[in-house]
Amino acid sequence: HAKEKGRGRAEYFTEELATRMAARAQMERELREAIDQQQFALVYQPQVCLRQGHMVVAEALLRWEHPRDGMTLPGAFIRLAEETGLIMEIGEWVIATVAETIARWAHAGIEQRLAINISQRQLDHAAFFRRLRAAMLEANAPATSLELEISETMAMQCSSEVIHAIALLRADGATIAIDEFGTGYSSLTRLRELPIDRIKLHRSLIAPLAYSGEARMIAQALIALIHGLGCEAVGQGIESRAQADVLRMMGCDVMQGFAIAEPMPEAAFMTWTRAEETRVMAG
Ligand code: C2E
Ligand code: MG
Ligand code: MG
Repeated sequence: HAKEKGRGRAEYFTEELATRMAARAQMERELREAIDQQQFALVYQPQVCLRQGHMVVAEALLRWEHPRDGMTLPGAFIRLAEETGLIMEIGEWVIATVAETIARWAHAGIEQRLAINISQRQLDHAAFFRRLRAAMLEANAPATSLELEISETMAMQCSSEVIHAIALLRADGATIAIDEFGTGYSSLTRLRELPIDRIKLHRSLIAPLAYSGEARMIAQALIALIHGLGCEAVGQGIESRAQADVLRMMGCDVMQGFAIAEPMPEAAFMTWTRAEETRVMAG
């Protein structure tokens, strides 16, 4: 009896696995189509100074305009893209688009720094940085308008060759940020050696700020550490006024989150930027 039951479960799992694999294969096919047919778009989320309120930089976030499912978030496809290596081509598109956008805005008199997220696979190849520099040069986009976001875990693992490539880009004027800080394991020595300008606290550290004294203590210590490293502290995932107030009191420099603005397509971002300028000027 038990054997029969066992067999039944095995079949069930096999079937489930087959279904999962088929779904994966389909998404991989669709991702390839998405690259060919340029179904990707970028949205921009402002990061603002916690004291003066002006925008410091905007993070470019990837969206997939899926022909059947509509607007699809990176959480649904980035992992598969990384596992299949398709992230390389998607990343190329992101780089080219950001370079072109920076140049186009600069031409219109808008100096706007944009931050892009770099995946582990891209960091594995030092050639990535050569192509990034080439894309910026080709588009005639100033490196000072570029920011790279590298996750804490990636920053701890990357080779000295990659660190050197990052340092070169920084020497060109690019800004380097550590993303998702506070969730991985950082070597403080390593952190001190990295050519970085800003550190973004992970969302999970922000959420409990308004009600947990322990969370406040941790955030306060991390902000002190970030400042000790000579970096700017960025709070991300700020969803309430209370969280922003706590961070401001702690001396956090910059904030990003739905409480300030959601990620927006280019036209909406431009409108927001103009309104924001008026707000800041009015004090
Ligand atoms: P991330 O770099 O940590 O980006 C911030 C994410 O938090 C974004 O999700 C953003 O929409 C979301 N967010 C912003 N404010 C809030 C808030 O107040 N509350 C909450 N709950 N969430 C907030 P998104 O756009 O879905 O991106 C998810 C992740 O996908 C990013 O996390 C990043 O790691 C990755 N990603 C996005 N674009 C790219 C890209 O072009 N290339 C690569 N390799 N990865 C990307
Ligand atoms: Mg990011
Ligand atoms: Mg982040």
